[in-house]
Amino acid sequence: MFDRKRVVIIGSGLGGLSCGTILQKNGFDVTVVEQGTQPGGCLQCFERKGAKFETGMHFIGSALPGQTMHSLMNYLGLLDDVKLSQLDENGYDIVSLAGQNFSFANGREPFIETMASYFPKEKDNIRKYYDIVKLIASSSALHSLTSSHRDDAIHAEYQLKSINDELDQIFGDDMLKNVIVGALPLYSAQLDKTPFAQHAHIADFYNQSAFRIVGGSDHIAHSLVANIGRMGGQVITRCKVHRIVCDERQAVGVDTDKGFINADIVVSTIHPMRTLELLAGTNILRPAFCKRINSMPQTNGGFSVYLKFKKNTVPYMNSNFYAYRGNTPWNCEQYTDEQWPKGFLYMHMCHKENPVWAESGIIISYMNYDEVAKWHGTKIGRRGDDYERFKKERAERLINDIERHFPGFKDSVDSFYTSTPLTYVDYTGTEQGSMYGIAKDISLGVAGRVPYRTRIPNLLLAGQNVNSHGMLGVLVGTIIACSELIPAQTIYGQIQQSKCR
Ligand SMILES: Cc1cc2nc3c(=O)[nH]c(=O)nc-3n(C[C@H](O)[C@H](O)[C@H](O)COP(=O)(O)OP(=O)(O)OC[C@H]3O[C@@H](n4cnc5c(N)ncnc54)[C@H](O)[C@@H]3O)c2cc1C
Repeated sequence: MFDRKRVVIIGSGLGGLSCGTILQKNGFDVTVVEQGTQPGGCLQCFERKGAKFETGMHFIGSALPGQTMHSLMNYLGLLDDVKLSQLDENGYDIVSLAGQNFSFANGREPFIETMASYFPKEKDNIRKYYDIVKLIASSSALHSLTSSHRDDAIHAEYQLKSINDELDQIFGDDMLKNVIVGALPLYSAQLDKTPFAQHAHIADFYNQSAFRIVGGSDHIAHSLVANIGRMGGQVITRCKVHRIVCDERQAVGVDTDKGFINADIVVSTIHPMRTLELLAGTNILRPAFCKRINSMPQTNGGFSVYLKFKKNTVPYMNSNFYAYRGNTPWNCEQYTDEQWPKGFLYMHMCHKENPVWAESGIIISYMNYDEVAKWHGTKIGRRGDDYERFKKERAERLINDIERHFPGFKDSVDSFYTSTPLTYVDYTGTEQGSMYGIAKDISLGVAGRVPYRTRIPNLLLAGQNVNSHGMLGVLVGTIIACSELIPAQTIYGQIQQSKCR
């Protein structure tokens, strides 16, 4: 066991709660502070008229026994509380492009065979693509929980190569190249910018197996909060941090809505620009570092329509459905008012095990912050009639688009609710409502990465902006950040041991 040091963690999203669990498990005295009324950040759900909706995380991958996420969930004590429902193995993702639907099947052979049924001449290239994706994903010890000495070389290569560059090299058929990136809203990929490594990790993560969370992703948050509490730590909600208080060398605690909390270690899991604001007046950080963080690119913002369906009218769709008006998923973030929405992702929520009918669903499309910037500074629920009209009109456009793919859909909608990038600014503090925080850009190289260590020796950064977003990206970032306080081998040993139980 280690010294019982007091750790304050800012933010109770997946990043904060997973750091809290690992540190409390290893003898630290953890307090997680959350500005919102609910813990969870992007794991939060909300209810309207008896229907429940997920606001962020909707599905996770690699969660069959023996796969990485299963091991991590086991280690974090999630398996008893969180029930998963597997998406269709023959088509966990369906990509609709140029009037045709393409299914993504789980596993190497099913994936290759299914894709080759649409593009028979490209079968060898599809095999090559699959194997490169697998090589990249499994060469990362952190993502695969296995050790490999090839990590660095493979990662350096594919972190610096764009997705489209690599696909141009592998495939001859342009349509296939577009189908392969059909799920790119999951990582907000941009042409010529997003590294192929990011595509590979996410493609492999879901290709191994894909699951919805029965009853909603807030079950993950509630389970982690309960585990932290059981081990003696605490999660305090409605407790916004206004300042990270430092002496001339290091952080000594945080000023919050509920007073000063002192700390030996502070872990900030919020957007790095927000962390810098909490450090205003501290001169330990170099101006060049602050400038770099403040000028990093952000992922796209999103507009969501939360749909409550009329009872027993919409058969539960056990796949995620991505559709595009044109024949490419690229550049959907570049649109004129008339062109919007160029594409969307449509999913059902899994309310109970083996559902026959869907009770609620969500449609997500990109939305740039400048569309809602004029309402910046207004308060949730009080942004005015013009904002409500804007959202309603946008929601109707998306609902009409779904109707084209699923005739009769509109008649099944009982009611709908919406969120914009402004909602995420207010609920999670992400910059300009960016869905996944800071964007990866191959042209920035290492300057595009957020470090988990700072010049303030007892301030660590974690959450989706360190490493990557999503269930796996955030948990890998958590392990990296916690490895500053607990030897990485100890954490790995504990993950392996928990597998044996
Ligand atoms: C629409 C959408 C869909 C997604 N779908 C998926 C998916 O299907 N699968 C998947 O794996 N991932 C998905 N993701 C990504 C995933 O949800 C996130 O990457 C992850 O949950 C982020 O966790 P986090 O802890 O880094 O940040 P957050 O969840 O943003 O948590 C940060 C927390 O910090 C709090 N906070 C901020 N400032 C302060 C302060 N000053 N004081 C106290 N608290 C503060 C916020 O209130 C928030 O609770 C999705 C994200 C979005 C937005």
